[in-house]
Amino acid sequence: MAFESLTDRLQNAFSKLRKKGKISETDLRGAMREIRLALLEADVNFTVVKNFVKTVRDKAIGADVLKGLNPTQQIVKIVNDELVKIMGDQAVDLNKSPKIPTIIMMVGLQGAGKTTTAGKLALKLKNEQKARPLMIAGDVYRPAAIDQLVQVGQQIDVPVFQLGTDVDPVEIVRQGLQKADEENNDYVIIDTAGRLQIDEKLMDELSRIKALAHPNEILLVVDAMTGQNAVNTAEGFNNQLDVTGVVLTKLDGDTRGGAALSIRAVTGKPIKFIGQGEKMTDLDVFHPDRMASRILG
Ligand code: GDP
Repeated sequence: MAFESLTDRLQNAFSKLRKKGKISETDLRGAMREIRLALLEADVNFTVVKNFVKTVRDKAIGADVLKGLNPTQQIVKIVNDELVKIMGDQAVDLNKSPKIPTIIMMVGLQGAGKTTTAGKLALKLKNEQKARPLMIAGDVYRPAAIDQLVQVGQQIDVPVFQLGTDVDPVEIVRQGLQKADEENNDYVIIDTAGRLQIDEKLMDELSRIKALAHPNEILLVVDAMTGQNAVNTAEGFNNQLDVTGVVLTKLDGDTRGGAALSIRAVTGKPIKFIGQGEKMTDLDVFHPDRMASRILG
């Protein structure tokens, strides 16, 4: 299960404090050390951890928590509030175009869950907003990728625009957008190519698609299981493409927490959705407060 070890270790640190009744500054320092190690082991970015621990300690001391009633409870609250804060405080909505269609471009490394998430998002828009999305198959390097998107489209009854693998992706997107205009689709979701790692050719292609499509939303899909790599990937994509949001996938797996806790602080970009399974319905809006509660257990 996700965050299991992080949750255990945080709870362990708090229960040690709770047993003390009265807490000295040394006890607080000890607890903060444990929290720091727990976060580092959960693969949270080093700078994020450093700032987090300092803020919690300053707040606990500043608020005279140690002299008050239920000091541990208050420390848990401070930790909770800071977790919420580093994850962005509030849920952030999908950007919407004032006139249709709203164009969403999915980007990310191969295997992160782009194609699956494109389908999940299309289904969500369809179910929740009665939207009529069109998906565009822009990954021309793997024939299987187009087939996969077509299959996803059939499964959720959403049309897929594709021109096979022999056409430049920018041209596919251009024609796909034309099709969406003709069909009055209110959302267009562009699936793009991924690679095993960021390279210049991929970024150049994605930049060209961006320049043509002027997407309202560039959603970066990252695999939560890859921890700090997910964060580095996010930074790389964001530097090149100035993404507008992040989707964190595979949070149903045995992930440690590093990506969820670092991405916002490192990139400044909000996590908008989380993927929590392989089914088309397994996509949820990201709520920092709910995620913090889940991490604290
Ligand atoms: P792409 O290469 O980025 O397009 O990645 P895919 O959409 O093909 O996804 C790669 C694999 O990850 C597939 O087997 C998906 O079913 C799986 N996957 C995607 N999102 C999730 C998720 O949230 N949870 C789980 N468990 N698997 C996921």
